[in-house]
Amino acid sequence: MRGFKCNAIELGNVPKPFSIPDLKDEVTLARYPFLPQAKEWIAKMATTHEIDIDELLDGSMMERARVRARSRLVDSVDSKDGVEVASIGDIHTEEGRLLEAFSFYYARLVVGASEDERLISRWAQAEAERAQHILDRDDAIAIIASTYISEIECDKNGVWRIGLADFIELCTGITGSRWRLPNCDIKDGWVTLFDEGDKYSSKGKVARLLRERMKDDIRLDAIEKMAKMDESLLIRLSEPVGMIRGLVASRTAETIALIGAGEEDWPPCMRKAVSELAEGVNVNHFGRVFLGSMSRCIGLPAETTVDFFRAAPDFNESTTTYQVGHLYEREYTPSGCSKLKVNHNCAVRTGEDRLCDQPWMDHPLKYIRAKQRRRKKQESVEVNVIPPNSGDA
Ligand code: SF4
Repeated sequence: MRGFKCNAIELGNVPKPFSIPDLKDEVTLARYPFLPQAKEWIAKMATTHEIDIDELLDGSMMERARVRARSRLVDSVDSKDGVEVASIGDIHTEEGRLLEAFSFYYARLVVGASEDERLISRWAQAEAERAQHILDRDDAIAIIASTYISEIECDKNGVWRIGLADFIELCTGITGSRWRLPNCDIKDGWVTLFDEGDKYSSKGKVARLLRERMKDDIRLDAIEKMAKMDESLLIRLSEPVGMIRGLVASRTAETIALIGAGEEDWPPCMRKAVSELAEGVNVNHFGRVFLGSMSRCIGLPAETTVDFFRAAPDFNESTTTYQVGHLYEREYTPSGCSKLKVNHNCAVRTGEDRLCDQPWMDHPLKYIRAKQRRRKKQESVEVNVIPPNSGDA
């Protein structure tokens, strides 16, 4: 029997390995960049390649990583099977590994900056599903299993067994009769994960159980990062956050808070487009596309966006509905301030709006984010100054 037993400590009811095994293989670390062993490796790569937060968010070297991160995020909303397994780079090269590691890192920053735990959970689920698909045929499953599970072993025939406590904790989140205890082979505190041939291999079952633990780890890690983000980072990430939230809203018709961006949070350029259209002014094509994509990003239903155009001189219900639907489908993200200025869609001049005057203001979604943050701060100050029982008078 080849064993991967580790000492266990109790974290609530969850037995986890007391110490995690050493893992130096860079290909494995790039494939599973959420592993606890990957932290040090990613930090080292950042130093070696001089990747700081500015490079990651805006630098040209990290451009492809941001593109890959975007597809990781989009897959987490769009794909039924989680994040696309294949990387866009070759992880047997340093460049490919950089791409995988930092696209994950960037995607985690973006979901964290959304401050939306439902979005974080959804993304964690998709990343864990991706990992499960790869693990199913990866020899690294042994070391990853011993990273996450305190009692797990594999015999020479490739049949795995897992400690009962781990099994009970992990299988509760999985549907299907094979995961129910009365249907399992349990002996001396161990559950044997029998091979079911084409239906479900023993290794496949380990990968499925691991998915539960990886999902929790990825989610908790992102929530921890979220709590540490400062305001300037949250605002800098407004554009990719808007992209992913808009996508979720259009796919699920959920009303999510950036969503929650009431009219008082809208940037002047958006208010200008809406009020000009309401007055029958012919807003130019660039302004119309901007308004449609902004509405999508803040979670307004497509029907509300169509309503914005009702008073336009050339309004036609079916054409506008088609065009707005196209914008929502194609996931357009709104243009930034510089393009809006060039196309005469910016509504302010210097001195007219304090937020628009900020040196970092280069995107209307940042305006909304900053407004929301300020309101939230103000509300918490107000709550703190209201004396207890003040409502009893
Ligand atoms: S500066 Fe940017 S956010 Fe402000 S009104 Fe102009 S385009 Fe909109």
